[in-house]
Amino acid sequence: MNAILAKLGIGEVNSGATTGGRNGWLETSGSELVSISPIDGKPIAKVIQASADDYQIVIEKARAAFEKWRMVPAPVRGQVVREIGDILREYKDPLGQLVTLEMGKIMAEGRGEVQEMIDIADFAVGQSRMLYGLAMHSERPRHRMYEQWHPLGIVGVITAYNFPVSVWSWNALIAAVCGDITVWKPSSITPLTAIAVQHIIAPVIDRHGLDGVFNLVIGKGGEVGETMIQDRRIPLISMTGSTAMGIHIAEAVGRRLGRSILELGGNNAIIVAEDADLDMAVRATLFGAVGTAGQRCTTTRRIIVHRAVKPTFVERLVAAYGQVRIGNPLEEGSLMGPVVDGATIESLEKAIAAAKASGGRLLYGGRRITVSGCEGGYYVEPAIMEVQNEYPIVKEETFAPLLYIIECSHIDEAIAKHNDVPQGLSSAIFTKNMHYQEQFLSPIGSDCGIANVNIGTSGAEIGGAFGGEKETGGGRESGSDAWKQYMRRQTTTINWGHELPLAQGIRFDAD
Ligand code: NAD
Repeated sequence: MNAILAKLGIGEVNSGATTGGRNGWLETSGSELVSISPIDGKPIAKVIQASADDYQIVIEKARAAFEKWRMVPAPVRGQVVREIGDILREYKDPLGQLVTLEMGKIMAEGRGEVQEMIDIADFAVGQSRMLYGLAMHSERPRHRMYEQWHPLGIVGVITAYNFPVSVWSWNALIAAVCGDITVWKPSSITPLTAIAVQHIIAPVIDRHGLDGVFNLVIGKGGEVGETMIQDRRIPLISMTGSTAMGIHIAEAVGRRLGRSILELGGNNAIIVAEDADLDMAVRATLFGAVGTAGQRCTTTRRIIVHRAVKPTFVERLVAAYGQVRIGNPLEEGSLMGPVVDGATIESLEKAIAAAKASGGRLLYGGRRITVSGCEGGYYVEPAIMEVQNEYPIVKEETFAPLLYIIECSHIDEAIAKHNDVPQGLSSAIFTKNMHYQEQFLSPIGSDCGIANVNIGTSGAEIGGAFGGEKETGGGRESGSDAWKQYMRRQTTTINWGHELPLAQGIRFDAD
């Protein structure tokens, strides 16, 4: 692993701020942060975080960079992003391994996360030639009307620990082709993966002289994060994290009438209808609930299953859970690694206790386990509980591998229960019945930002707009037309005649 750290530019002690490139690293003067691996609870490396002064240096560099970057033609900006995608391809394995080491997801998922960065780079390259505006017919003669999209400025990107690198790329690479500058504040749990990304892309930055276009500031949420959200020089804050934090950020950014993109917690459910293909439903549930040790925003947290198939479904699911190899995520055979820290295990235990207190029944798992060779790590069995959707704990996002089974007896009841939570991120139905499928996808169906049929709740592709409703925050990132949020729209009317007619037929002549 030391060779991988070295390859990614990670030393024993690392600077926590850069304006990009090999020489962009600051002599940071903030407090020391130690990155701990959840695999064995051992320290990996240290970071000297950014101080308030360091932050100011980065923002000033970012402002200067925007002056130039906004005037680089968008397709040329796209070529820079293409090179970033190419270099990420070269580093897919080592960066994926570092994601695993620092965050705990299994290697296949660590690599998959880097693949997502590569995919979004490809998408952004294409997008750089498609920043389309509409042309309208003016109501006035010899007038032309159209809208155009201009770069917005500095985008503050605040990311969560569970997708420590891909969420940066969703924002930074789209923002870059839009002509924006990004300042990234990663989670304090995963600073090293962020530092590694900056080292990886440094040759591209240097080749094109792009100091200040892709910035990194590592610091406490309450300090650097708080300063960013209050900072009027940052017109857009894109934040991924818990709903509680998102509400705080929405208030702070809203108070200064800045823009925010909020990607917050989910409470995602799969409806399993009486005619569902149970093999597919069980496999999708297993991946959705146990993958990333239950720490995806799109993790399947609730199964709403028809009572006719519930016993068979639960029996097969429990058997499948029994086959999950929990172990060191750096070893290829492991299907589930540790959760990120001890607090996550405690939140799982508290949720199980709360559900039991409401009348719930534990069907599987929930115990702490020790993995040989990884004694200090945070390993736990994924849990399944039979509950009622009405229990207060079921309405919360417990960010751990805990799956609730909820019985239903009719499609209307299933959809009502499905929607009866405060969050609205991802959703799915397993059915062969086209009436059920279409109802689920109709305005009286799922109220989530993502609604799938015969596919689980997690594992979205980058081509669609990603995000959710209600307490999930309403933000959309990644594909589709998410790029528009990183630009400012300008409506332009050109009068190419010699008269000055007013809109709505108004006459305003002095004589
Ligand atoms: P978190 O809310 O604890 O932290 C998120 C980020 O906010 C971190 O970078 C943190 O340092 C920063 N922060 C903390 N205080 C701040 C402040 N005062 N001002 C500005 N920033 C501050 O979230 P987490 O535990 O890292 O991540 C897990 C959560 O993220 C879950 O709720 C999960 O559902 C959610 N998530 C959502 C999506 C999505 O796309 N909807 C994706 C991934 C994760």
